[in-house]
Amino acid sequence: MKRRDFLKTSGAALAGGALLGTAGGFSQSCAAHDGSSRDLGSTDVLVVGGGPAGVCAAIAAARCGAKTVIVEQGNCLGGMATRGLVAPFMTCYDTTGEIMVIRGIFEEIVDRMVALGGAIHPSQVRAGTPFSAWITKGHDHLTPFDAETLKFVLDQMCDEAGVKVMFHSTLVDPLIVGDSVRGIRLLNREGLCTIGAKVTIDCTGDGDVAARAGAPCTYGNPEIGKVQPSTLFFHINNVDTPRLTRDVEAHLHEFRKVNGVSYRALHWRVEEAEEAGEWDIARKSVNIYRGVREDEWAVNCTRIAGVDATSTESLSAAEKEGRRQVQELMNFFHKYVPGCENATIKSSASTLGIRESRHVQGEYILTADDLLQGVVPEDSILCASNSVDVHGRNGANTTEYKTVENGQWYGLPLRSLIPLRRDGLIVAGRAISATSDAAGAVRVMPPCMAMGHAAGITAALAALGGAAPRRIDAKDVRAKLLEQGAFLG
Ligand SMILES: Cc1cc2nc3c(=O)[nH]c(=O)nc-3n(C[C@H](O)[C@H](O)[C@H](O)COP(=O)(O)OP(=O)(O)OC[C@H]3O[C@@H](n4cnc5c(N)ncnc54)[C@H](O)[C@@H]3O)c2cc1C
Repeated sequence: MKRRDFLKTSGAALAGGALLGTAGGFSQSCAAHDGSSRDLGSTDVLVVGGGPAGVCAAIAAARCGAKTVIVEQGNCLGGMATRGLVAPFMTCYDTTGEIMVIRGIFEEIVDRMVALGGAIHPSQVRAGTPFSAWITKGHDHLTPFDAETLKFVLDQMCDEAGVKVMFHSTLVDPLIVGDSVRGIRLLNREGLCTIGAKVTIDCTGDGDVAARAGAPCTYGNPEIGKVQPSTLFFHINNVDTPRLTRDVEAHLHEFRKVNGVSYRALHWRVEEAEEAGEWDIARKSVNIYRGVREDEWAVNCTRIAGVDATSTESLSAAEKEGRRQVQELMNFFHKYVPGCENATIKSSASTLGIRESRHVQGEYILTADDLLQGVVPEDSILCASNSVDVHGRNGANTTEYKTVENGQWYGLPLRSLIPLRRDGLIVAGRAISATSDAAGAVRVMPPCMAMGHAAGITAALAALGGAAPRRIDAKDVRAKLLEQGAFLG
């Protein structure tokens, strides 16, 4: 069947599909609308990808009264925060450390986790402590959290908002009519299915929907043709934290930058391992963040350069290399790090951590200068102060870290979420329209959640008002964000 015919068929079938037919409920008994895929009906807002951005987008859209479906290839919500074991949440405060600037749905999630004993409130977490890997610049008020608690809280919040969650469902391609995305085709346990949508939000992190819909994208940093390196996260427990802390704090004065290489925690132990020929990782120190429980630490240290998140072959090789490095690091902890002699792997991420892949080109391309100079555009949908954090550009060991120079925060324009050349589509999270450097700041989880919040509201306003997302007035989005507890300066 030709693509155009397929879309015509699916458009007709969507009108009577299961999602509509069951008044917001869901039935897997729907019949195939043609030989190749089943029609699951249609929804107002469809979110593809259930990571930090996607889950906030879905909750926000549903709370605005839009019928909302979220589609996730894995078996839980949270994306990098759960399956990727990335922790802690980077700062949600301004540069003075006085004001919590990322609020709204993000804050609700944190408060719920704190109430369950699964997070420490960022107001209690200061820079230069074990919770911030002893880093000072840009690392005040982080949020340590437990991934299992987060999974549970996100399930609860989606249920309460009335979001239909579909796990084990992977995007195949978008349904396109004219210049508009009208839903997606996906692969799940029933085989190929279609879901129609008035507005689709691409929260895949890699801009999969937008790229496959033909929206213009760049990849990594086009000037040097590179992406930031990838990391397989893992968490350890059974650590004698007071002993580990004493070792690090005795060497704190040695945190330094030499020839563009950042030496942070435990570089003195890495040197010992290197001398013994037991260190083969492209990093000279170990970023370890204390978790909610005293003996638990999140390890952000494996490093795999040049991974292409859009290539199965590249990802497959990198996942294996990540696991090899986890074993090497465990050997390192046991032999060289005081307090870690009996450490065990609590869990390793079920998916590789991708810092960078595609950047979808939108109505505005956010730049690092905008952020570092504290620019707050009129159509700003969030305030944040996260630093530009670019790993490995000038050699595998390097990290470029630039903090906001002017003001307490910067804004992020709604225009950066609206892709060029395609209607019916919004992008939120890691793949928004930003230069590689700017993405190096706003890719962290609190701003991604705030973007998701705004994207969900914009999608609901567009779907319920019968307008294209690019026609939605940012003033209306901002008004709704404030109503829903967000901070806009
Ligand atoms: C190594 C590393 C360290 C980091 N450190 C920190 C940190 O300390 N603190 C911090 O706040 N942030 C950190 N970040 C950044 C942060 O984790 C991510 O940038 C952020 O999670 C992006 O959110 P997202 O929702 O855009 O994407 P993701 O978290 O990647 O979520 C995308 C979701 O979409 C799903 N998906 C993807 N493709 C498809 C598809 N085709 N079909 C269906 N579902 C799909 C995925 O399964 C996933 O659940 C780090 C990231 C990495 C990689």
